[in-house]
Amino acid sequence: MIKLKERLLVPFAQFIIRDIPSMILSLALFLGGIWLLAIRIPGWSLLFGLIFTPMGAAFMVFTLDGVARNRIAPPSFKSAECRVCGKKTYSKENVEDAICNRCRENIGEEILKEKG
Ligand SMILES: [Zn+2]
Repeated sequence: MIKLKERLLVPFAQFIIRDIPSMILSLALFLGGIWLLAIRIPGWSLLFGLIFTPMGAAFMVFTLDGVARNRIAPPSFKSAECRVCGKKTYSKENVEDAICNRCRENIGEEILKEKG
């Protein structure tokens, strides 16, 4: 039985611990940049505003991209050792026996040779 609660709680905890702070930081940079542009201190606001605003935006995109890739759709593959050659390969999480693509191709070729 898969521990469903754990599978849901761990990514959620990671989301709170790692992603929320970086999201807040990027949002603060972005809004701070806009605020600096808005208050119009001669020289400084334009300088820092034009630095912080794109930085915040880029950081936010980066963070959300990471969130989307790792949390919302966690990679369903885990690394495993190929049963034939022992090299590192990937298998689906619930599949224990992994055979790498190269070995799979070789096996396919061997079978074809035997048949032909
Ligand atoms: Zn292999």
